[in-house]
Amino acid sequence: MIRDTAAFRRDLLRWYDQNARDLPWRASKALWPVLVSEFMLQQTRVETVIPYFQRFMARFPDAAALARAPETEVLAAWSGLGYYSRARNLREAAAAITAQNPETYEQVRALPGVGAYTAAAVSSIALDLPHAAVDGNVLRVLARLTADASDIGAESTRARFRDADQRLLAPQRPGDFNQAMMELGATVCLPRSPHCLVCPVSKHCLARQTGRQDELPMKRPKPAVARAEAEVAVVRCGAGWLLKQRAARESRMADFWELPHPADVPGVVLSLCGSFRHSIVNTRFTIAVYRGELDVTPDVTPDVTPDGLKSATVDDLETLPLTTISRKALNLEKRASAARPRGIRLQVARGE
Ligand code: SF4
Repeated sequence: MIRDTAAFRRDLLRWYDQNARDLPWRASKALWPVLVSEFMLQQTRVETVIPYFQRFMARFPDAAALARAPETEVLAAWSGLGYYSRARNLREAAAAITAQNPETYEQVRALPGVGAYTAAAVSSIALDLPHAAVDGNVLRVLARLTADASDIGAESTRARFRDADQRLLAPQRPGDFNQAMMELGATVCLPRSPHCLVCPVSKHCLARQTGRQDELPMKRPKPAVARAEAEVAVVRCGAGWLLKQRAARESRMADFWELPHPADVPGVVLSLCGSFRHSIVNTRFTIAVYRGELDVTPDVTPDVTPDGLKSATVDDLETLPLTTISRKALNLEKRASAARPRGIRLQVARGE
């Protein structure tokens, strides 16, 4: 373990004070923005989160605003970030916070969707409580600092590293210490080719001293990625596009809106306009995007089509919770339409 803990904390925090990235959720240490940012950062990269965080905070500046909002509105604001259970949990957490503002680690941990890591991060940053937050970046840094070749995917290793980090934590500045460790992992102690020459704690690092920084941490290989194919249809209908709503009983993304499958629009002549890749957990999908047009006659209700699909306008797309696959497919179709030479029209058939 680190021999001179006090010197390590001092070196790390001095570097953090001078080099911390200017991230929007660091402008305040209030509980609400810290909680929102930690929910968004679960499974999602910092660069992706930034614009979502800014829009979300502008729309829901405090917990009460989110607790009041209908779930569909919250999901729409989250649309594109993925892992939508986070949005639902955050809304429930907002209601709990509105009833009683948490003041202890245990009260933060009891909020819906808050695990041990998020509770430690939020309570250290927003409440100044001494709890070490160990994410993937911190695990990597700790494995290298201590030249520990244990499998960091194993729960026993993680528990040991959490204990080690708890002992290392700077008790006067727990939130800054946690963020500094994560920042070090995100910007200097990178997964491949760590920047040891500019590392503020290199003199404390056993892996660096023994030349093992490139081989640590050890991790069992991930399970093989499965591959699958799927199809969606981008069907124009008057001024909008056809969408259908996922059933409430569906385990993933229940109640979300999505583009129909080609089989859902049998009366429409479709042509392939492109494809893209999209990963969900351990499956890598290739999504084929078809496009077509539904002929809308004046006697057909313009909002809900006879086969139960909804025609969504551009404004609807801003407010409906829409699956990420559908967003990507609509964007692909839009780009393809913009690139298509004038004068070529799609073959159109009347819908059922
Ligand atoms: S010296 Fe290198 S391996 Fe060690 S913590 Fe710093 S960047 Fe990581």
